[in-house]
Amino acid sequence: MRPDLAHVTTWLFDLDHTLYPFEANVMSLVEKRMSAFVARETGLPPEEAFQLQKRYLNEHGTTLAGLMKHHNVEPRRFLDEVHDVPLDDLHADHELNALITALPGRKIVFTNGDEKHAVRLLNKLEMDSLFDGLFHLEHANYVPKPNLVTFELMMAAHLVSPRDTAFFEDSPRNLKPAHGLGMTTVLVGPHAAGNLDGFVDHRSPSLKAFLQSI
Ligand SMILES: [Mg+2]
Repeated sequence: MRPDLAHVTTWLFDLDHTLYPFEANVMSLVEKRMSAFVARETGLPPEEAFQLQKRYLNEHGTTLAGLMKHHNVEPRRFLDEVHDVPLDDLHADHELNALITALPGRKIVFTNGDEKHAVRLLNKLEMDSLFDGLFHLEHANYVPKPNLVTFELMMAAHLVSPRDTAFFEDSPRNLKPAHGLGMTTVLVGPHAAGNLDGFVDHRSPSLKAFLQSI
């Protein structure tokens, strides 16, 4: 059955692992740099530092949010260090870019990454002129999705009416507040087919596969 998206006038996209595939070796490199940062900052051995990194991610939305709250970490220092990774594995997908361009309405990127990271990746993906708006971590005062306050800030900044919006994400928990606000939620990624969350409206192995199907 084809998803009914006739009502959608705003197309909202997460960035990492949504606008490019899981296989691109970018976030795994970022995570390694995060692990090193957490170990150095806390003095914990690598294994315990990794557990703490994941705990902060789960409890605070990002590792950074936990480090800011519990270790008084200055966000700029963390972000500049962890995102300093090569983008050799990241390539423009011109077919995907054409599919996004063809969507009727506004297109906005809504990311937990900072501006520098987002702009760098969008340039590498040749997506820098594809979107009408970018809402990044600095806009959110470093408070990440899935915090509802951040959704409200993003909607106010871009005059987004949630009932007319489809939101694409690889992270299920970020779709929960979106669904509560009335957005149409689309989970993308290799894990999507196995997802059972009631707040997920549509599932697809990738953004490209989904856009090809509508
Ligand atoms: Mg993501």
